[in-house]
Amino acid sequence: MRNFTVGPVAMSQDILNIGSEQIPYFRTAEFSKLMLENEAMILRAANAPAGSRAVFLTGSGTSGMEAAVVNLFDEDDKVLVVNGGSFGARFAEICRVYGIPHEEVKLSFGKQITANDLAPFENQGFTGLLVNIHETSTGVLYDAELLSAFCRRNNLKFVVDAISSFLADPFDMSKIGADAVIVGSQKAIALPPGISAVLLSSRACEVISLRERIRCFYLNLKEALKNGERGQTPFTPAVGILLQMHKRLSGILTRGVAEEIRKAKRLAQYFRERIANFPFVVASESCSNAVTSLRVLPECKSTAFEIFEILKNEYGIFVCPNGGDLRDSVFRVGHIGELTANDYEALFSAFEDMKSSGKI
Ligand SMILES: *Cc1c(COP(=O)(O)O)cnc(C)c1O
Repeated sequence: MRNFTVGPVAMSQDILNIGSEQIPYFRTAEFSKLMLENEAMILRAANAPAGSRAVFLTGSGTSGMEAAVVNLFDEDDKVLVVNGGSFGARFAEICRVYGIPHEEVKLSFGKQITANDLAPFENQGFTGLLVNIHETSTGVLYDAELLSAFCRRNNLKFVVDAISSFLADPFDMSKIGADAVIVGSQKAIALPPGISAVLLSSRACEVISLRERIRCFYLNLKEALKNGERGQTPFTPAVGILLQMHKRLSGILTRGVAEEIRKAKRLAQYFRERIANFPFVVASESCSNAVTSLRVLPECKSTAFEIFEILKNEYGIFVCPNGGDLRDSVFRVGHIGELTANDYEALFSAFEDMKSSGKI
């Protein structure tokens, strides 16, 4: 199987080996030490400012999105949501479920956000901004500096879902002044799904510590922060993934975060340079290194969804289909996880084969 999805992605052998071992009991000094190291390492990898904290929630990436929203905002807030695809829509839906007043900056498929898009929302009494810095459903990497400047000018709490961008694109929590950064285990960290890390600035930690009422139980970050001080979690975490996380983050920091990002960038470039031979075009502006969205050209003999199915069923190759209106026109090819140029050669040879048999 070759996996070009954006998660779960292919994992390295040393990570798979840890996954085959028995799970140790976790209320121990040894596990606490490992967790404190995990926290320090993930903060370092994101260049979090001094005084930041990170907590590890057991849940997929969406649990981190939900935790950030419900712990930082309530009915008295007014939140701006960047919505250029299905992950932006998810942030809006979380606000709706919790009754948090919000408005959306709606962007068309594949479009970068501009100052013009934000202009109507200046000085409108907003208290926070939510963005998926890489909107994975379209492949657009949003302009973090533009959003950061908007948040500073308007004094907003800045919540960044970096789940599919962290370790694939350059990311600097200090530079952009983010208050909460959400990371998921199954994207570029290349671990099994099941852990979401939420990195919090000292300002965000203070907001949470002063909150009198947090309307959730499992995702209560006040509790998570308190337990985290001694390297523990309120509930049984996905212990095995956290052991794998320690191995993976140690390796990344030894090689350098920049090297990890260069690897995704090289694979993305390699792929994008060769795609011109086939009836697809890159569908988005300012692409993340994590994924390429491809629009199927009119002359192509299969729809995007059929291409996904043919690759899966006939070649054992997984790409990402798109849903909704884009099901037939767009599919995505990822560049994260344990992939090499050889894997792309296999994908291109499948495309060649499909071309000569009249399928594309
Ligand atoms: C993958 C992803 C998520 C999390 O999705 P889960 O299925 O809950 O892990 C959230 N935001 C973005 C931008 C993602 O790419």
